Amino acid sequence: MRRSAEGPEVKKRFGRNDRIFIAVFAAAAAMLLLSGRWRLAPGARVVVTIDGERYGEYSLDREQEIPIRIDGVTTNVLTIRDQTADMTWADCPDRLCVQQKAISGENETIVCLPNRVVVQVAGGKESGLDTIAK
Ligand SMILES: [Zn+2]
Repeated sequence: MRRSAEGPEVKKRFGRNDRIFIAVFAAAAAMLLLSGRWRLAPGARVVVTIDGERYGEYSLDREQEIPIRIDGVTTNVLTIRDQTADMTWADCPDRLCVQQKAISGENETIVCLPNRVVVQVAGGKESGLDTIAK
């Protein structure tokens, strides 16, 4: 009778139920997290400003490449994909803006200091769920 030696029956039953509960809870939490990341408030967009002046406004719902031109010369390229905005090319010497990760949450920004280009998300999703995911 090795079973009785492993411990009281009550403790074993509790342990099994506990594991099932944790598994179900984890699955539910994962689904909640996924659905939260997929859903974005309608009308989310990025606002591009150059040297403090408004350059343009683009919906995050439409995938596109936006060349940002200063005096007819393309200085930065902003790419919108999967409802995020990412600086994919720039002619600035440091390329810090290109290294910044894609943005999608409200008020997140990508800044190109040498070109004085600022890209900011407006009207995006609540950042609560996103913060947990990070
Ligand atoms: Zn830059």
